[in-house]
Amino acid sequence: MAERSKRDELQASLRRLPGVDKVLEMMLQDETAKRLPASLLTDCARKAVSQVRERVLAGEREIPSALETIVQGGVKEALRAVKPRLRRVINATGVVLHTNLGRAPLSETALQLIQESASGYSNLEFDLQAGVRGSRYSLVVEKICRLTGAEDAVVVNNNAAAVMLLLAAMAKGKEVVVSRGELVEIGGSFRIPAVMEESGAKLLEVGTTNKTHLRDYEAAISEETALLMKVHTSNYRIIGFTSQPEDADIVELGRRKAIPVVEDLGGGLLLPLALPGWQEPTVAEKIAAGFDLVTCSADKLMGAGQAGIIAGKRQYIEKIKKHQLLRALRIDKLSLAALEGTLCDYLVGKEEKIPVLRMLTATQETLANMQQQLAEELAPLEKKGWSIKKCEMSSMAGGGTLPEIEFASCGVAIIPPEAEAASVERHLRAWQIPIIVRVQEGRLLVDVRSLFPADAAEIAAACAAWEAERKR
Ligand SMILES: *Cc1c(COP(=O)(O)O)cnc(C)c1O
Repeated sequence: MAERSKRDELQASLRRLPGVDKVLEMMLQDETAKRLPASLLTDCARKAVSQVRERVLAGEREIPSALETIVQGGVKEALRAVKPRLRRVINATGVVLHTNLGRAPLSETALQLIQESASGYSNLEFDLQAGVRGSRYSLVVEKICRLTGAEDAVVVNNNAAAVMLLLAAMAKGKEVVVSRGELVEIGGSFRIPAVMEESGAKLLEVGTTNKTHLRDYEAAISEETALLMKVHTSNYRIIGFTSQPEDADIVELGRRKAIPVVEDLGGGLLLPLALPGWQEPTVAEKIAAGFDLVTCSADKLMGAGQAGIIAGKRQYIEKIKKHQLLRALRIDKLSLAALEGTLCDYLVGKEEKIPVLRMLTATQETLANMQQQLAEELAPLEKKGWSIKKCEMSSMAGGGTLPEIEFASCGVAIIPPEAEAASVERHLRAWQIPIIVRVQEGRLLVDVRSLFPADAAEIAAACAAWEAERKR
């Protein structure tokens, strides 16, 4: 008997659910939703009804079966479905090249060139002087050569692609000599031995993790050797009892044996960075040292968009450009515009317009001013029981670059009332412009180094909104 009445009750609940047509009709009364395609709205109405049906069937008691609630659910789902998922966020972590947050923010010049060249047609592969088909690879070559001293260059999708293409074109089926201390893994997916294997080149490891001598390279050279390869250990350092041959010596060895010497530089620094206690090599230094080819990323220390650059001797670049893989790894027009715009900033001597360089070289005074501004914006919360304290921070370059350097920075430690740091962190992440902060021992830490000028007010507004919700 009890069984039957339960079943009847369930049937009654299911019968009470509104039909999809009814829900759709009501959804169309929403001003924003009604402008969306009917097929999308129908789909969302169906989903909203079926979600409630599932809950009824699962035996849930308190179910918002009211038509109103289901309609709201449908509208919300439709609006969510058409909103871009890729969004701007505020990076309050102080990690300048945050790989999870899109690495390098672009300069105005780069953004303008993207807008200008991509909103209509462009000369991407059209030679305006000759009036015939041109090459996308030639657009930025002169600028890269001017900035690096290289004879020629080619750009591809990213540095992983640059390394892969270089190896496939120069060393397929032959041996590439690499020091055991330089078999790097970057970002969990780029590993030198794996890339080497994929490219068809054979890795010949020499030396040991901490010490590799010139004679190790020399002893490894045979008929089978295609390249001597250096890999910049951009995301780690081996310290202590270590040695690697000088650039000049390995270059000289390559010359003597008529074997090209290449380096995967990673970071792609174009100008020397004045960093206390550390000298990160520039692309120009490597070219000047005599490397035949150098590969690097465009969206790390160079501060442009995602791209990979191979720069060096013309005869090798020409060989690489003939390889079939180039077509599969080719750079798209938006990245090319981001790269060329950024290179223009370098060429006119306006590096300070490149966000990555501006952030990495920000003076203590600039940082302290931003810190002061942020603290002032947040100060009204102190009356509501929050603690707002200026603090010293230590930022990282990130993106697998400059691993050893801690950049002394300025920040603000925010302690919300009632030990609610985790709740505020979630609220900031869900904010209209999501704000990404570090949480440490119940404090939200904002490092000002990676902020843009308008971010301080946004962070304060988001915190104030959490406070207002708490009161309600
Ligand atoms: C970052 C890096 C790569 C990978 O570059 P992407 O542009 O991220 O593909 C390869 N090699 C080195 C040494 C790097 O630092």
